[in-house]
Amino acid sequence: MIFRILLSLLFVSPPTHALTLDSTPVPGGIAIVALPDNVDPASARYREKKVLVTDIDGLPSAVIGLSLGTRPGRHFLSAVNTGGKSLQIAFDVESKAYEEQRITIKDKRKVTPEKRDMERITREQKVIKKALRHWTDTDEIDLTFELPVDGPTSSPFGLRRFFNDQPRKPHSGLDIAAAKGTPIRAPAPGTVIETGDYFFNGKTVFIDHGRGLVTMYCHMSAIDIEPGTRVASGDIIGRIGMTGRVTGPHLHWGVSLNDARVDPLLFLPVPEQAAAVKPDQ
Ligand SMILES: [Zn+2]
Repeated sequence: MIFRILLSLLFVSPPTHALTLDSTPVPGGIAIVALPDNVDPASARYREKKVLVTDIDGLPSAVIGLSLGTRPGRHFLSAVNTGGKSLQIAFDVESKAYEEQRITIKDKRKVTPEKRDMERITREQKVIKKALRHWTDTDEIDLTFELPVDGPTSSPFGLRRFFNDQPRKPHSGLDIAAAKGTPIRAPAPGTVIETGDYFFNGKTVFIDHGRGLVTMYCHMSAIDIEPGTRVASGDIIGRIGMTGRVTGPHLHWGVSLNDARVDPLLFLPVPEQAAAVKPDQ
């Protein structure tokens, strides 16, 4: 599939459309590990979780999400071959230094939630985590995304964050700034598996693209789609807003792969990446 896309793109204009999926494996990134011939693709696991397998350059390959907490060094993909033998396929993860970001949030309750907020937050975390680790088998998978909204990146993925000088979890998505009401579009085909209005994330939509690839869209002013709806690339799912913990209108775009949050930029073709990272940072 990817190979076919690559080929067709190469014939159009070779230098500008290279996919970045083969980028260096780092925490918050992805590792591409070619599977030996006799391996059952459905058996591939990383940290006991099923991983996405697709053809890359004509070879069945595992596309493994690496969480921001991944330790640099040697890691193993486990799989079973057609003879029933277990295999450990090694790959190396390199280190990556992400920058620090300090944000001032006026609504102190969004930084240090009150006791009564905690029950809601705990309940919502369960729903969010369940959506992000969703697995569906699919015949086809598109790993080349379109930008869900036009606008400058206001916060890149992976920043080590401090809210009102208090350390919090690193930034697990990519923020794109745009005016309130701007349409947000599905970046690739998939199925809407969950929507909600959450304490930190505000109005949110989750799209399942299959094989453990799930995307999330937060802080919307309006959700324009219902769970269970099948979407094509470019379909409108909601509108830019500032619900939840925000300092201004933007989209927080998250990408989860085998339940690891990874950098959404990895799924954009190079020219769109260049457009996404605009001056004002
Ligand atoms: Zn964000």
